[in-house]
Amino acid sequence: MTAFDSFPLGQPGFISHILDRAAHLRGDEEKLLALEAHPDARAYVVYRDSLVVRREATGPRALLGLNEARQLGANPGTIFLGLRQGAPVFGMGISPGAVEQLLTRDDAAVSELRGMAMQGVVPASELSAIAMAKSLVNWHQRHGYCANCGTRSAMKEGGWKRDCPNCKAEHFPRTDPVVIMLVTSGDKVLLGRQKHFLPGMYSCLAGFVEAAETIEDAVRREIFEESGVRCTDVNYYMTQPWPYPSSLMIGCTARALNEDIVVDRTELEDARWFDHAEAALMIRREHPDGLAGPHPFAIAHHLLGRWVKGSDRGHGGNP
Ligand SMILES: [Zn+2]
Repeated sequence: MTAFDSFPLGQPGFISHILDRAAHLRGDEEKLLALEAHPDARAYVVYRDSLVVRREATGPRALLGLNEARQLGANPGTIFLGLRQGAPVFGMGISPGAVEQLLTRDDAAVSELRGMAMQGVVPASELSAIAMAKSLVNWHQRHGYCANCGTRSAMKEGGWKRDCPNCKAEHFPRTDPVVIMLVTSGDKVLLGRQKHFLPGMYSCLAGFVEAAETIEDAVRREIFEESGVRCTDVNYYMTQPWPYPSSLMIGCTARALNEDIVVDRTELEDARWFDHAEAALMIRREHPDGLAGPHPFAIAHHLLGRWVKGSDRGHGGNP
């Protein structure tokens, strides 16, 4: 199975939901304890950008039994992610010391999530639940103290909140909105590359939405800042959760008003226009110069793929 099969057009990574979040259970501590004791309780164990996986003959398994996760060294605290066919699924963290111990074992490993997802090692259907686990575990690890008074805060609501015992402030996991946009001018598309991209890879421009800014303004501002191109006709396509550490990618299209490019070299290594034929070769990874579009795992591939296919040209840009 190729990445194109795992992430068909319109279905990037992290969007397929297999969990019922069952948010009404988060406030019921007794029920949560009972769910932890459920014989089919499972957990994803997150370490930074990686997952603890069990090595099996059929390949790595990321969804672990709760006791299995603890035996592998996961921290005791659990985050309730939801129910999968009635069985509870949790997120758990693990300390660097426990990870070091794991590296000596043959039956377990710590594997980088993005690589596993892009290679299809983790089923695409599980990625949304894994994204939840990763975003929340990372949030708890970075937000252990009250931002208001500095007191150590406590995990509540099955991990969906932290409370300060001193000033009583409530803290909730944040999600950072990011606009990512396909900018076109007639038969041409604007793509850029960052220094850390794989050689030859070009993708859509993107940037964080700022305070008190609309999505449309953020699209226009980011494109102008990074490429000097002014835009109009901003349309929404779809969103993709992106757990690095906790963003929501808001996929948009826009129409350019000018084609002269001034690349912001602090953000991008290059930005240029590609015509439709060239973009089609890039997305299929058949470009004679080795240029390539973004991986089907990422929403940028789907913005570009949809345009290449022609399904968003000639009308307002909605799917
Ligand atoms: Zn406080």
